[in-house]
Amino acid sequence: MDLNLGTLSTGGENTQAQEHVRVLILGAGPAGLSAALYAARNELHPVVLTGTEIGGQASLTYSIENYPGFPNGVGGTELGDLFQKQAEHFGARLEFDSATEVDLSQRPFRGKTYSKEFLADSLIITTGASPNHLNIPGEREFTGKGVSYCATCDGWFFKDKRVVVVGGGDSALEESIFLTRYASEVTLIHRRDQLRGGAILQRRAMENPKIRFLWNSIVTEISGEDAVQSIRLKNVVTDEETQMDISGVFIFIGHTPNTQMFRGQLSMDPHGYIISDMTMRTNIPGVFVAGEVMDPNYRQVVTSAGMGAAAAIEATRFLEATEEIDRKQETQSA
Ligand code: NAP
Repeated sequence: MDLNLGTLSTGGENTQAQEHVRVLILGAGPAGLSAALYAARNELHPVVLTGTEIGGQASLTYSIENYPGFPNGVGGTELGDLFQKQAEHFGARLEFDSATEVDLSQRPFRGKTYSKEFLADSLIITTGASPNHLNIPGEREFTGKGVSYCATCDGWFFKDKRVVVVGGGDSALEESIFLTRYASEVTLIHRRDQLRGGAILQRRAMENPKIRFLWNSIVTEISGEDAVQSIRLKNVVTDEETQMDISGVFIFIGHTPNTQMFRGQLSMDPHGYIISDMTMRTNIPGVFVAGEVMDPNYRQVVTSAGMGAAAAIEATRFLEATEEIDRKQETQSA
């Protein structure tokens, strides 16, 4: 199949570059870069639209201790760099651009970015998930001014200050432990009296002298002048309301899959996760999916990378099968 670069007329005034590729990968987290590695090694010359985060959410993690092959852990950014280098080494091309619109109604699929349009014989969606918000007064106003969704990115700004972490899962526990490097005190606020996170992280957090726990509590408001100064809390058992003076609010209450662009085109569950099976197929032949955009259960670097590899293997099989059918039809009509 020819890979051609042409131009597309957009309403007569502007022209937009158009490129035909065999595999287009949306997203450059562990799933996307692993898919790129496998597709590149299968000589499919994949193009990866990176979006805004190379390495995905894993790149925001200070140290990843459960990715096999790194017995002493590996930095999230470092692992993302290694994934990228390995995929590029075998011929994957990363485009530092985002898909703004996709049309999956016919093959080749169309994916528009800010600078061009791709025609893709197969598509692998690895657009991940974004952190959930509390949606309380002050949260939006103070984001970047004391409210954060990434301890690795912002922890340093809270040296010797008191901060709170909201949530009771692995993320909240892991990030609380990380924040004790800087903060004088970390209060983990959880809406129940039992944590959701795993046993090892629970033990580590409970043994950490800088972490204290506030159970059965929710944050109802974040206040301050130029930056966060205090929060309002409500005990959900007694209804008692209190105020706490703090400098930082770190929110880790789960994620929402980045699937807005595919609504009405791909089958999704009620939470917006794209529906797939072990073969990473979607309801549209030739469109595959991997990682957190379809996985609310595991959300591990290793599982996302594994799914990315599987998606690329399936895309390869799909292209081989469809190209074989095309060849037969051409021979018959010749
Ligand atoms: P999660 O497991 O879904 O936990 C979210 C937490 O936020 C829960 O404790 C939940 O409370 C709480 N929450 C949800 N909405 C809330 C709201 N509106 N107000 C207050 N609290 C709220 O999310 P996660 O911690 O990000 O972890 C997601 C997945 O990634 C999990 O499978 C986890 O194992 C994995 N992960 C693994 C690691 C690791 O292995 N090192 C690290 C990070 C994440 P309830 O418990 O009451 O529902």
